[in-house]
Amino acid sequence: MSWEKVVRRVTPYVPGEQPKDKNIIKLNTNECPYPPAPGVSKLIENLRYEDMRLYPDPEASVLVDALSDYYKVPADQIFVGVGSDDVLSMAYLTFFNSDKPILFPDITYSFYDVWAELYKVPYKKIPLDADFKINFEEYYEENTPNGGVIIANPNAPVGICEPVSKIEEVVRHNPNSVCIIDEAYIDFGGESALPLIEKYDNVLIVQTFSKSRAMAGMRIGYAFGSKKLIGYMKDAKFSFNSYTMNRPSLELGVESIRDDAYFKETCAKIIATRERVKKELSELGFTFPDSKANFIFAKHERVTGEELFLTLKEARIFVRHWNTDRISDYLRITIGTDEEMDKLISFLEDYLG
Ligand SMILES: *Cc1c(COP(=O)(O)O)cnc(C)c1O
Repeated sequence: MSWEKVVRRVTPYVPGEQPKDKNIIKLNTNECPYPPAPGVSKLIENLRYEDMRLYPDPEASVLVDALSDYYKVPADQIFVGVGSDDVLSMAYLTFFNSDKPILFPDITYSFYDVWAELYKVPYKKIPLDADFKINFEEYYEENTPNGGVIIANPNAPVGICEPVSKIEEVVRHNPNSVCIIDEAYIDFGGESALPLIEKYDNVLIVQTFSKSRAMAGMRIGYAFGSKKLIGYMKDAKFSFNSYTMNRPSLELGVESIRDDAYFKETCAKIIATRERVKKELSELGFTFPDSKANFIFAKHERVTGEELFLTLKEARIFVRHWNTDRISDYLRITIGTDEEMDKLISFLEDYLG
């Protein structure tokens, strides 16, 4: 039993279910319902298998350069990792080392407290208001002394996107800590805080290929920040694992970035579907915060979240439900194809009607 006393114990993050059965409507993990850019498929056929014996480029230069061209950010201000989860975890390791608590909302991406526990970083949850909006002023250093801030914008799982001006105030009021802005869902109609990296050296903007670029399976995430900030992250990364990005993901990521027309078209389709599903859900008696993400966080006027979740599951429609404080009556419904959403809506019409 003695060695167990020194185990680093942690209650892990629980990802949404990935059922083996293909014959379900999968609206539970915010994946893109459309395939990646067509060029990705062509390149998969042409990947040189004999190169797989070689380590990948530890600097991930081809991908960093493609991101640099696309976002007009110098390469030394870009960090890449194995999905944004890897990028965020490296950012915690690098920047969140204070005795003061890091701050994030009580309702947000449920990985934030898991990393805090894993790295033994004290943390404090700041409650969202009754409308699930962020109380920005409570994140200011003068109001809550802190060792860092992490905010998802749009916030998950509620979907609300806040203006960059409010994000900027948090960054400006925290000159002594790093503010991480997790923009996993920014491509679905929100405004990115990316320009803030030119004015502030303490803000890190994190994005991912997993949602809007339909490449969750490739595991590609990236972040932008001041040269100094990114330099510190790279030092941590090269002290942890030099070769995080594998060869295929580097090349396929570049291919995805190149096809901007396809990317924009896919995002526009998802946004259009989301907007009409909002109307249909309202007519069925659902209420929800106004989402700028690829999901809707909805609650029904009569039926509990748990009942709906289980009923939908029985009907082979998977959505996400948390049996936790404040949100147990809500379902997080990923925006699928129009056909998938039609099936969801017609099932709900029958069930609730
Ligand atoms: C999906 C998600 C991520 C992680 O995505 P990766 O697949 O690791 O890139 C990070 N933050 C939020 C808020 C997410 O919803």
